Amino acid sequence: MVRSTLRWWRQLVLALSCLLLVIACNNSSPTSTKSASSSSGGSSNPTVTTLKVATDPTFAPFEFQVGNQKQTQGFDIDLINGIGKAAGLQIQLQSMRFDGIIPALQSGNVDAAISGMTITKKRLDVVSFSRPYIKAGLAIAVQDSNNSVTSLADLKDKKIAVQIGTTGAAEAKKVPGAQIITFDTSDLPMRELGNGNVDAVVTDAPATLHAIKTGSLKGIKIVGKLLTQEYYGIAVPKNSANLEAINKGLDTLIQNGTYDKIYQRWFNTKPSPLPTSASAVAA
Ligand code: GLN
Repeated sequence: MVRSTLRWWRQLVLALSCLLLVIACNNSSPTSTKSASSSSGGSSNPTVTTLKVATDPTFAPFEFQVGNQKQTQGFDIDLINGIGKAAGLQIQLQSMRFDGIIPALQSGNVDAAISGMTITKKRLDVVSFSRPYIKAGLAIAVQDSNNSVTSLADLKDKKIAVQIGTTGAAEAKKVPGAQIITFDTSDLPMRELGNGNVDAVVTDAPATLHAIKTGSLKGIKIVGKLLTQEYYGIAVPKNSANLEAINKGLDTLIQNGTYDKIYQRWFNTKPSPLPTSASAVAA
């Protein structure tokens, strides 16, 4: 009698421990599945629902502010809003100086940046880029009256205005003996040139051409050949899990004709085909 009660208790304890084990296993399985999928870097699921996007809105026609409300608009802004729509992400723009953008991405203060930013090998060391979204290149701008400059070599010992942290600034630094004057924003170097305080500006040709065409810059021309061929990309923190969603959104806009419409709106012409890999075009 005593012995059979003891056996009965033993069986109960065994049954209970088995039950506990089953419950424990069931509980832990969803957790382990979740952590496995969120740590797989190749997932196209963005880690956020609102994408904080940095931009320096002094670079028309890509990003610039208009009106009393200082509303930011431009080619890049239409593009990122389109990408947001295609990817199901809210876009929240955050204005900042161009040379503050990469540090903001590195510290995780923003999720992405669209700011006419050239994909370069140096930048690819510290951030990741989307597929290229437009082709550009650097050009020299001088005053209309200047007929002695047609190449970088002609700027030897001259005064060149540039925006700090840009590819134009890096290119101007190559000119022997030139005095490089740097500015925080993209519009100021041009203003200095217009005022005759510098001999030239080295910056992205599409921005200079737009300023000349719209009449916002007077008495200025582009001279010589394009100095570089560059492609802009959307920058994200290195290996960000949001990159795939951004690239997919961009692919959608390119495939469904929205990209062409945005391009036409800002450049009044058809775009040329775009390469698909950032690393292949890095300047
Ligand atoms: N494309 C240039 C760069 O990436 C300039 C960009 C800009 O002034 N916004 O450096």
